[in-house]
Amino acid sequence: MAAGCVIVGAGQAGFEAAAALRAEGYQEPIALIGDEPHLPYQRPPLSKGFILDKQGMDEIELRPSQFFTDHRIDLVTGERVAAIDRAAKRVSLSSGASRPYDALVLACGARNRQLPVDGAALDNVLYLRTLDESRAVKERLRDASDIVVVGGGFIGLEIAASARSLGKSVTVLEAQARLMPRVVAPLVSAFYDTLHTARGVTVVCSAAVAGIGGERGRAQSVRLANGASYPADLVVVGIGVVPNVELARDAGLAIGNGIVVDDCLQTGDPAIFAIGDCADHPNPYAGARVRLESVQNAADQGRAAAAAIAGRHAPYNAVPWFWTDQFDIRLQMAGLSQGYDEAVTRGNPEAQKFSVFYFRQARLIAVDSINRPADHIVARRLLASRAPVTPEQAADETVNLKSLSVP
Ligand SMILES: Cc1cc2nc3c(=O)[nH]c(=O)nc-3n(C[C@H](O)[C@H](O)[C@H](O)COP(=O)(O)OP(=O)(O)OC[C@H]3O[C@@H](n4cnc5c(N)ncnc54)[C@H](O)[C@@H]3O)c2cc1C
Repeated sequence: MAAGCVIVGAGQAGFEAAAALRAEGYQEPIALIGDEPHLPYQRPPLSKGFILDKQGMDEIELRPSQFFTDHRIDLVTGERVAAIDRAAKRVSLSSGASRPYDALVLACGARNRQLPVDGAALDNVLYLRTLDESRAVKERLRDASDIVVVGGGFIGLEIAASARSLGKSVTVLEAQARLMPRVVAPLVSAFYDTLHTARGVTVVCSAAVAGIGGERGRAQSVRLANGASYPADLVVVGIGVVPNVELARDAGLAIGNGIVVDDCLQTGDPAIFAIGDCADHPNPYAGARVRLESVQNAADQGRAAAAAIAGRHAPYNAVPWFWTDQFDIRLQMAGLSQGYDEAVTRGNPEAQKFSVFYFRQARLIAVDSINRPADHIVARRLLASRAPVTPEQAADETVNLKSLSVP
């Protein structure tokens, strides 16, 4: 009997790969092995709707358990893949068992980057990546009054907005000079600074956290290198993630800023693929190798790897997109803006409805849309068709952008 496909990691990417293999008509066994003790679930609500009790488990699980039975996907939860024997084409599990594979998909995701300061191990210093961590933050938020969020990126700001919506006193400490500095233009950073400040969040940029002070194992304040101190009875750290590459590295696979794969998500070993947050892949929209952390990337790479395993050549070339919800504002991003040399605005930032169009050497590379979902949809089309949009056209509200996309 064929060994089939083993997928390591039952997150968004691993789930999509398993489901897509069946949709491709793959008939061999599929094992989806995850170390978390839950059905595969979506992470985005963990810092938003789930924490605010607006979304329950039934809404965050990707599929009910019956789905896996119906599609003959052997879902193994609470089990860690400990090692890969590439010569024997077998993985060994932390329980001591082992499984053979014909194709192996590494969908190992990423883990929280740890805050390297004194006091970071105190009891009420939390991180937010998993369902269990989100439950812990939700639980602690109930009784906390002063919340300090370390990190002014997407997740930090979403947690800040959620905590503030619950009426808590919230401070965001961002090490860089502006919010979300790696991914948005200064205008968008400034918009979010104003938004959070107007809703009562204290936003401190250029804030180098030097330590967390506490008593009897509990954090009480966060101290900056400049001597400033902020009271805290709950600290939530969101300072980015590191990809889970150790399994691949120990098996001798190439590692860059993640597990190195080609445009079909294949590693240097033709039987092994890597997808999602852990994959360092060539991306046509970046014009370079990148590692992306988004639902779109995880889902589309899961589908592309499944196609390759099922024998269909379908290189990964989807337009990258992402969203973040903070208070009642939705930011949707299409494309990758890194390396832009010109940015123009369409719409009215004062009215909290505008888009920023990013250009590199006069070519449109990305669009950030704030409460302008129609712009986001058009942007994805323009980017996919590589439409020749000019900055003047993008900024001019009388120009119908839809008419510019190339069919
Ligand atoms: C709080 C939060 C909010 C987010 N909000 C958004 C958003 O609004 N929009 C958006 O686009 N993206 C958002 N993201 C990012 C998005 O959720 C991730 O990019 C996506 O989940 C990545 O999927 P993945 O399957 O690659 O990795 P993961 O979801 O991390 O899944 C990997 C799984 O593999 C498991 N694993 C690792 N190693 C092993 C092993 N050896 N054996 C077994 N199991 C293993 C891990 O424990 C994990 O369960 C958010 C993420 C977080 C944490």
